[in-house]
Amino acid sequence: MSLNLANISVSYPDTDAVKDVTLEVKSGERFAIMGPSGSGKSTLLRAIAGLAVMQSGSVHINGADMTGVPAHQRPVGLMFQDYALFPHMAVLENVAYGLRMNGVPKTERNERAAKLLELVGLAGFAERRTTTLSGGEQQRVALARTLAPSPAVVLLDEPLGSLDISLKESLLAETRSILEAVGATSVYVTHDRAEAFAFCDRMAILDKGEVVRVGTPDEIWRDPQSAFVARSIGQSNLVPHSMISDGGAGLVFVPLEAVTMSPSGRFSAPVTTSRFEDGSNIVAVAFGVEGSSLEMRAPLAATPGVEVRFDIEVDALIVVSANEV
Ligand code: ADP
Ligand code: MG
Repeated sequence: MSLNLANISVSYPDTDAVKDVTLEVKSGERFAIMGPSGSGKSTLLRAIAGLAVMQSGSVHINGADMTGVPAHQRPVGLMFQDYALFPHMAVLENVAYGLRMNGVPKTERNERAAKLLELVGLAGFAERRTTTLSGGEQQRVALARTLAPSPAVVLLDEPLGSLDISLKESLLAETRSILEAVGATSVYVTHDRAEAFAFCDRMAILDKGEVVRVGTPDEIWRDPQSAFVARSIGQSNLVPHSMISDGGAGLVFVPLEAVTMSPSGRFSAPVTTSRFEDGSNIVAVAFGVEGSSLEMRAPLAATPGVEVRFDIEVDALIVVSANEV
């Protein structure tokens, strides 16, 4: 079930939340939309679901124009950021809710809901109140509820937002395989680059309501095309190419592995900070454009202000943009 968004704009009185967004999500694809808080991610999902008024543009699902189709008649499932479970209903009723709204008879909808609870690993939870569930269990109920009516397109808005990190990793992998099992076409919205990368086949990066880059994680990593995209995906070691290579132009990303501290190094700069992370010392030096720093792994912690020498492996650099800013 494909999803086509063409020239979508959504404005509020004070903000142009979504600006001229055009995207194509293929049938069965896991697509991520990543952007900082306030970049228009939730608004875009709401527009797809028919819950936000678009100033312009169109949504097509499997070729069908959704213009004028009210939210409850669109073949989409939206999983909200805060799950929005019904506290006065048991787990099974929550999951069966969409089917009830669609007029599916009780026996049939309860059977379907029970199957989905099994799929998300909550087989024994049917009669529990949602208020007695842990964050991770609530997430699974919300996912089961979203999938119950077999939507053509599943929209997930920061589905792991408030969970702790270790739970996030396992639930992300599980969410991924559940969506795969039901053959869903999905759009996963997050501000978290690790989540987006781990989830998706392809992704779009949003900046202030605009799509600034679309591609596979690998394509975007190797060719971010702007400093904003590079920083969004975690390429923080950005340096003007001309400082490293004669004749080099634009801005480059220097992977941590490409920098080696060495007494005979070609480059020299003063230490700004030193910290211990993931089993090694990370030393930052004042190198690059004014005010920016370059990080490297070091055998020992270093004292701020001390001058250190280092080498940069030029073959490992990634050219980020044509400009130095
Ligand atoms: P994100 O989900 O990426 O954090 P949102 O889509 O929630 O971003 O918001 C995008 C912009 O639109 C923000 O500036 C936000 O303040 C504004 N916005 C969102 N919803 C509304 C609303 N109902 N009324 C007015 N402004 C809104
Ligand atoms: Mg949001």
